[in-house]
Amino acid sequence: MPAQTDVIIIGAGAAGLAAAKELTNLGISFIVVEASHRIGGRAYSEEIAPDVWFDLGCAYLVEGSDVKNHIDESNPFIEFAKNQGELIEEYKYDAHYIYSGRPLDDKEEKARLAFYTDCEDAIHSSATGGDDCAISELIDLESPYAIPYMDMMAVTAPKDLDEASAADFFYKVEEYRDFITLRGYGRLVAQWGSDVQVSLNTRVETVDWSGKDVLVKTNKGSIRARCLITTVSNGILASQHIHFKPRLPNWKLEAIQGLPMGAENKIGVHFTKDVFDPKASGYYQAWSDAAQGAYIDVNLMSTNVVSVFMGGRFSIWMEKQGQQACHEFAVDRIADIFGNDIRQAVGRSIVTAWVTDPWTLGSYACALPGQYHQREALPLAIDNKLFFAGEATARANGTCSGAYWSGVRAAREVATEVNKGVGSN
Ligand SMILES: Cc1cc2nc3c(=O)[nH]c(=O)nc-3n(C[C@H](O)[C@H](O)[C@H](O)COP(=O)(O)OP(=O)(O)OC[C@H]3O[C@@H](n4cnc5c(N)ncnc54)[C@H](O)[C@@H]3O)c2cc1C
Repeated sequence: MPAQTDVIIIGAGAAGLAAAKELTNLGISFIVVEASHRIGGRAYSEEIAPDVWFDLGCAYLVEGSDVKNHIDESNPFIEFAKNQGELIEEYKYDAHYIYSGRPLDDKEEKARLAFYTDCEDAIHSSATGGDDCAISELIDLESPYAIPYMDMMAVTAPKDLDEASAADFFYKVEEYRDFITLRGYGRLVAQWGSDVQVSLNTRVETVDWSGKDVLVKTNKGSIRARCLITTVSNGILASQHIHFKPRLPNWKLEAIQGLPMGAENKIGVHFTKDVFDPKASGYYQAWSDAAQGAYIDVNLMSTNVVSVFMGGRFSIWMEKQGQQACHEFAVDRIADIFGNDIRQAVGRSIVTAWVTDPWTLGSYACALPGQYHQREALPLAIDNKLFFAGEATARANGTCSGAYWSGVRAAREVATEVNKGVGSN
C-alpha cells in the first residue's frame, strides 16, 4: 500500500468504486481502502443453490429519472448488465394480499386500496406542505389495513412509522420502474468494480485532518493524502468507529444523527422442487390477527426462491433471535399462503443480519421526523479536505444507483480541489 496519494477513498461499495472510476477518468491518483475481505459492501449476492443467486442487500435495479425531485440519474448497472449479457427483466409481477390465509375478496381489496391511497395522499400533502412529521401521525391506525401497510412501510422506509419522516419518505427516489437480474445485483456490482484496485481487509481507524493534508491510520499502516472521500454508512459514522481528529463539526454530527440507519432484513428460502404455479409468482403481503405479517416476493424469474422481508423494530428483534428463528418465521409465512405441503420442499435459506453487520451497522439511512433537512447537510465537504459520499448522501438515497452517483459527485468535487492545488504550485 503506497504511503502517499492525492485521494484516499474509504469503502469499496458502489459509492467508493464509482468515485475511484471517476478519479481514474480525471487523472487523479487515489487509494481505496476496504475493511472487509470483498468489494461491493451492501451490494452482495450469494449462491443459495447451484447457480441460483440471492441478494442479501440490494436486489432491485431502480431505473430512471426521478420526476418528483427533477433528477435525471439513470442506473448505470442496467446498461452494464445488458452489455455483460446478464438476464434482466422489468419487475411487473402481480400483487397479492392474503389475510388469515385467504386472498381478500373484491370488496376488501377495494377498501385496502382506498386505505393505501389515502395514506399516500396524506404523506404527499404533508411533505409538499412543508411539514416533516412522523408518518404514523398521518395514517388511521385503527383501519383493518393499517397492519399490512405498516409491515410494508417498515421494510421500505425502513423504520417503524413513528420513527420515519414523512418528507424523507416522499422525496425518496421515485421507483417507477424496477428491474431484477437473474444472477444477482451484488454479483453485477462486483463484476463492474473488479477493475478497481482495492486494498482489502484494510480498516480505517483514525482520520487526522488537523494539518494541511489528511493522515489516515489503518490496521495496515498510515497513508497521507490531499483529500479524503468517505463512503461508509451513517451507522459507522455515528458509532465513531473511525476516530476523526479533530472531531467532526457539530453541524455534520447533527446531520449523521438526524439520518440514522434503518433496519431491513431478508430471508431467502430456496425450494428444491417446482412447487409454485408460474401464475403465483409475484409480490405478496400476508397478515393475520395471530402473528406478525410479512412482505414476500415469490419465485421471481422462476428461481424457486422466496424472499421474505422484515423491517423496523421487528427486524431488529428477529436478528437477535438468530438464523433458525428467522428461517422458521419465513417458512411459516410462506406456508400461510401456499399451505403446509410446501414445507416438504424447503431447501437452504440465507438470513441477513444488517443491523449487527460490523461494516454497516444497519441497512440504510432514514431521516427521523423533523430531520429531513439534514439530507442537505450530510453530503457537504469539510475544510475542502473531507468529502462525503455513500447512499445516505445521495439524492436517490437508500439505493445502489444513488450510491454510485454520490461517488461520482464526490470525485468531481475532489478533482476541483486537487486541481486548484496544482494550479497554485
Ligand atoms: C436489505 C437491503 C436491501 C436493499 N435493497 C435495495 C434495492 O433493492 N435496490 C437498491 O438500489 N438498493 C437497495 N439497498 C440499498 C443499497 O444496497 C445501498 O444503498 C448501497 O449498496 C450502498 O452503497 P454504499 O457504497 O453507499 O455503501 P456500502 O455498500 O455500505 O459501502 C461502504 C463500504 O465501506 C466499508 N467500510 C466500513 N467501515 C470501514 C472502515 N472503517 N474502513 C474501511 N472500510 C470501511 C464497508 O465494508 C463497505 O464495503 C438495500 C440495502 C439493504 C441493506
